[in-house]
Amino acid sequence: MQIYKVGGAVRDRLLGKPVTDIDWVVVGATAEEMLANGFRPVGSDFPVFLHPKSGEEYALARTERKSGRGYGGFTFHASPEVTLEEDLIRRDLTINAMAEDDQGVLTDPYHGQQDLENRLLRHVSPAFAEDPLRVLRVARFAARYAGLGFRVAPDTLELMRQLSESGELEALTPERSWKEISRALMEDHPQVFIQVLRDCGALKVLLPEVEALFGVPQPVAHHPEIDSGVHTLSVLEQAALHKQPLSVRWACLLHDLGKGLTPQSEWPQHIAHEHKGLKLIKCVNERFKAPRDCQELALLVGQYHTHGHRALELKPSTLAQLLQSFDVYRRPQRFEEFIAACEMDARGRLGLEERAYPQADYLRGAATAARTVAVQPLLEQGFKGPELGEALKRERLKALKAYKEQHPQ
Ligand code: ATP
Ligand code: MG
Repeated sequence: MQIYKVGGAVRDRLLGKPVTDIDWVVVGATAEEMLANGFRPVGSDFPVFLHPKSGEEYALARTERKSGRGYGGFTFHASPEVTLEEDLIRRDLTINAMAEDDQGVLTDPYHGQQDLENRLLRHVSPAFAEDPLRVLRVARFAARYAGLGFRVAPDTLELMRQLSESGELEALTPERSWKEISRALMEDHPQVFIQVLRDCGALKVLLPEVEALFGVPQPVAHHPEIDSGVHTLSVLEQAALHKQPLSVRWACLLHDLGKGLTPQSEWPQHIAHEHKGLKLIKCVNERFKAPRDCQELALLVGQYHTHGHRALELKPSTLAQLLQSFDVYRRPQRFEEFIAACEMDARGRLGLEERAYPQADYLRGAATAARTVAVQPLLEQGFKGPELGEALKRERLKALKAYKEQHPQ
């Protein structure tokens, strides 16, 4: 049997990027031989094994044929006769379809190295169209390597467009889609992911609520970029520049969905867009079965981001309600993430990226002031049950009034 390094490990070494996990392909072996050599099988669907010591993935060379809709609709053929070239041709991009043997000799039948040099994300063969997930994968690689100058090859974009129009994207499971979306959002240029999806017509299938923001104007005084879609991309860009976690990036992407519902007659104003957007955010959250922290933060940021921007003008009672809505007393981290999302929203505006955001520290200070109210003295005064809750609220409100007085505008 011959063993080769494949995929990301080869690509990233050639790009001079750190290689974290290595995928291997095994040519000329049977599953029985692998088991006899101590490899452990992974699941039953794929002829994939884990190395007894390193735990890295070793896949038997295989060919694939599409036999139905979605990912279940694939038949695999792995046998010792399948060649390395046959295995590589089923892969998505030429830059992912190179192999390297233990002497460092490169096998590159589909000219991945040339595409690396030309900074092109190009499909390997027309079989690319057999798995709609590849649309998301290509957009994700575009988001990862945009800083190096990579772009999607025009004929690949055309295939992605055909796939998006074919209805195949709808066959993707929420789990597979979310895995790609969440990884793409954590790349250096997540806005490129959304842009590429838009360019190939996949955004209006996967996230029509985000697509709907493009072409919708906002007041130029607050939004020199005017377009709501452009603004959303900038907010995402800021979130990546500021190394925000996934939940914040997800909330940034969805914060303004309500603006897509505003009747044209009201443009460029978006009265109550925060509230109107909630049902759309909920729907997107559920479509991809996003993790609970992402879902919750997106809804809270959607509902309250304008409160964040107006923090310094809020009445103490409104501040108290805001803190209560976030359950800041038990979930301080989530409020911190809300503040971060608001700040990214404020910075994701043309020419205002470096503007100060004093609201952030003001909100942090308010949360601290309210959280400093101690329960013990109230217990000692004899408060119990609902009355204790009321007393605590009164004391917190008092603390917030004092806080506001100490921080005049
Ligand atoms: P990463 O750095 O994100 O891990 P990677 O290229 O190693 O990038 P993996 O998802 O680990 O990506 O997959 C390993 C290899 O398997 C890819 O390089 C590609 O050749 C192939 N591959 C994975 N998923 C697909 C797919 N859906 N269609 C075609 N080829 C795929
Ligand atoms: Mg990998």
